[in-house]
Amino acid sequence: MTPRPIPFPHNFRYPATMTLAVPTDDFDCQSCGACCSYSEDWPRFSLETDEELDRIPAEYVSADLGGMRCEDNRCTALDGKLGVHVGCKIYAVRPIVCRTCMPGDDECLMARHKLSQKVLL
Ligand code: SF4
Ligand code: SF4
Repeated sequence: MTPRPIPFPHNFRYPATMTLAVPTDDFDCQSCGACCSYSEDWPRFSLETDEELDRIPAEYVSADLGGMRCEDNRCTALDGKLGVHVGCKIYAVRPIVCRTCMPGDDECLMARHKLSQKVLL
């Protein structure tokens, strides 16, 4: 499959230093994954109950038990290739922050912006 640029909304203002991706309003999370590879400080636990946290496999939890374990800022529960096809291995039990990030919101745009500068997808 040929890699493709991360899609951005038509009204997104591209920074002058940024390599242009093809503008589109397509926010397909299954072909993105930017917010899951934005920062190790992003998939942190917040108001989860002990029962909810117990459902997350220990192999994906950070050493300090405060969030998801990340490698090079990428959550270890993220499967697949960024910008092509991705999936969350623990989707049904993912943390609250992962449920509240919505395609097209500020966090989403920020993550996609960062990733588009790092990887030409
Ligand atoms: S919420 Fe946004 S950044 Fe996260 S996977 Fe979906 S489209 Fe990508
Ligand atoms: S737990 Fe799933 S949705 Fe949350 S950051 Fe990791 S891969 Fe993404």
